[in-house]
Amino acid sequence: MKVFLGLIALAALLFFGAGPKMVDERINRVSDHAPYVISEDAKNLHANLFIGDWHADSTLWDRNLSDRHQYGHVDIPRLQSGNVSLQMFTTVSKSPSGLNYEANSDESNDSITALAIIQRWPLKTWNNLTERVIHQANKVRSIANDDADNFILILSKTDLADYLNRKKSNPKLVGGLIGTEGSHALEGEIRNIERLYSEGFRMMSLHHFFDNKLGGSLHGLSGAGLSNFGAQAVNEMMRLGIMIDVSHSSEKVVKDVLSIVNQPLVVSHTGLYGHCQSSRNISDALMKEIASKGGLIAIGYWHGAVCGNSPKDVAEAIKYGVDLVGSKHVSLGSDFDGAVMPAFDTSELSALTHELLLTGLSEDDIRSVMGLNMLNFLNDHLPD
Ligand SMILES: [Zn+2]
Repeated sequence: MKVFLGLIALAALLFFGAGPKMVDERINRVSDHAPYVISEDAKNLHANLFIGDWHADSTLWDRNLSDRHQYGHVDIPRLQSGNVSLQMFTTVSKSPSGLNYEANSDESNDSITALAIIQRWPLKTWNNLTERVIHQANKVRSIANDDADNFILILSKTDLADYLNRKKSNPKLVGGLIGTEGSHALEGEIRNIERLYSEGFRMMSLHHFFDNKLGGSLHGLSGAGLSNFGAQAVNEMMRLGIMIDVSHSSEKVVKDVLSIVNQPLVVSHTGLYGHCQSSRNISDALMKEIASKGGLIAIGYWHGAVCGNSPKDVAEAIKYGVDLVGSKHVSLGSDFDGAVMPAFDTSELSALTHELLLTGLSEDDIRSVMGLNMLNFLNDHLPD
């Protein structure tokens, strides 16, 4: 999640009678662009790719994801148009107004409280971050129940195998997973990790835009490493088989986590500092260390991560990543619906394949990055 309209702006929208739809439309835009021209080679390759995306905040918004929309970035019909097979839905629970990449306090007004209220989320979500992410997870579960021909929730290796099987006769079937954005969603309680696991969460990120009980955010005030509580949380995640996402964590936290984990890490939405000198991105050296221990670096589609928002800009970031850490460690992490403005929504993803071919990446490397790496990682790290 990048730039967010502040609480005041949201309150103003509400005051002037704007509904949640208008907030969503204004916050999750696609920048104007001419229709993308896709080569025949790229069309053919794209149609045969298995594609997965590690990060979209779509459940934060009041949008029925089973219907196709003209605004926002992701819904099931648009995932199908873009030939996307797997989507991790990351649930956002707190986001300071006026947020930036440099320094945010956890004391500033929280925009998600305003969103929860104007979207008429259940009362219990207004003051409780755990309830907020569970509410969003329930939305994903509802799609799987109500739209079973198009969408399946994946919780285990068995579910993943079942999904791949069903996809043979129903190629449009989309698989979804649930993750958190920031472990403040635990409300300071280790036991909430198990509770969230039982609610279907299979990946947890440690931080968002501010320091929390686990340690320092990359955009917080302290720059601190992993706290004792953070180390306990990471151990509990490992015990349960929850994948760990270090996007938005301070470099110290990432190093501390690397020193205690016995499973590879995911950076679910990022750019690479050597390619885009943004304070949103951690150092290339640290990315190489994450990759050398089997981790995945998932490249985002927005300006703060890749210094541009076009398919060409994203392709260049991916090419840089492949050259830096190898094609087996680069993945996709759009940050769609995360208050960013890419120049394409998920239905237009063949434009990325087109641009990746132009960078000179091999078809095998493109297959890995676009989805096979995510598929293999899930196959290795989801619980049985
Ligand atoms: Zn984010």
